[in-house]
Amino acid sequence: MSKHPMDRRDFLRNTVAGGVGFGVLGAAAGEAMSQAPAANEGKVPRKPLGSTGEVLPIIQMGTCQTMDLKYDRRLHRCFQMGVDHIDTAQMYADGQAQKAVGVFNKQIGDRKKLFIATKVYLGVQEASAQRFKEELDKCLHDMELEYVDLFYMHMAHDERYIEPEFIQLGEDLKKSGKSRFFGFSTHDGSVPRMLTKAAELGGGIDAILFRYNFRQYGNVELNRAIDAAKKAGIGLVAMKTLAAIPDDSEEIVPFRSENFNLVQAKLKAVWADERIDSICSQMSSVEHVMENTAAAMSPVKLSMDEYMQLHRLAALTSEHYCTGCHHICESRVAGKLRIADQMRYLMYHESYHECESARKLYDALRPEERDFDRVDLAEATKACPQRIDIRERLAKARQVLSA
Ligand code: SF4
Repeated sequence: MSKHPMDRRDFLRNTVAGGVGFGVLGAAAGEAMSQAPAANEGKVPRKPLGSTGEVLPIIQMGTCQTMDLKYDRRLHRCFQMGVDHIDTAQMYADGQAQKAVGVFNKQIGDRKKLFIATKVYLGVQEASAQRFKEELDKCLHDMELEYVDLFYMHMAHDERYIEPEFIQLGEDLKKSGKSRFFGFSTHDGSVPRMLTKAAELGGGIDAILFRYNFRQYGNVELNRAIDAAKKAGIGLVAMKTLAAIPDDSEEIVPFRSENFNLVQAKLKAVWADERIDSICSQMSSVEHVMENTAAAMSPVKLSMDEYMQLHRLAALTSEHYCTGCHHICESRVAGKLRIADQMRYLMYHESYHECESARKLYDALRPEERDFDRVDLAEATKACPQRIDIRERLAKARQVLSA
């Protein structure tokens, strides 16, 4: 069964028809106080990013992939479609992605025409304001830029990242002119806590990039956290919106729609949540860029039937998708085993085909964070809300990532 049940020409034809759909994101989304995206003639609509004063496309190009250092067609096609917000990170493709963004900036020839965000990962033990400043300098050097528009502390899963030292870091970066805005990215079960804490600060965090997708509707804690962050004026950027599982598992549940393929429907489901300002999407081909931007430009909303199909897909495949709620499983095992991280790296390998970076991340785990042979996983497996066979998945991660 194809993942793309209709060809692009059919889809593009249908997107101009217009129509009305049904949003079923729940009460919190319905009460969102954000603005609707502004139409943008033949280009992707734009929306304010929190209280930054920036009005950015509702989809941005994610570069966690190998980019073309000479002429990246995806970046150029994005730009043509109005996607001028580029998201990169120091660690993507071993630094090659940042370099490609630098080349692309030169080809565009006007720095002000791009909104460039980058991220630096420093583990919670080694993180310091000084180290982040040093690493940002390296990023700027690699991209041959004088400044980035947005600097994120990458994979900030601990409240330490929003202690005064780091909030001051954001202020310092802005004063020095090296970054116009400041925030963090966060993936796992820490998302509700990190969003809530950032909102409580009452300033200092301009934007948060966080995992959010159709599998998480009905998560009351997450919805409250998103509401709080929105109310605090923090720009909210969703990532991992496809909530991908291995192709051979997802494709056994066919998606039927006259308007959208499954990927487009997943994006539309996130855009339907008006609290979300933008989606960071890793578009791996020009065709993928065209599909995603067509979905962004389409005024057609998802129908109730399409939402229900997504719900059904989420329910049927939940055992294949780890939601990252590490506090549930990791608190039920002895030692320092990092279950959610291993599951995430396995997802990078199986679903996003980022095999090299998945192996590197897996390799960076300490033995006691990785080795599970002597660990009793029974209670953790019993408690897992996704009913994942944890031992089987950790074994799979070791098999494919430790090579
Ligand atoms: S394995 Fe289950 S409990 Fe652990 S992080 Fe994943 S979904 Fe949550």
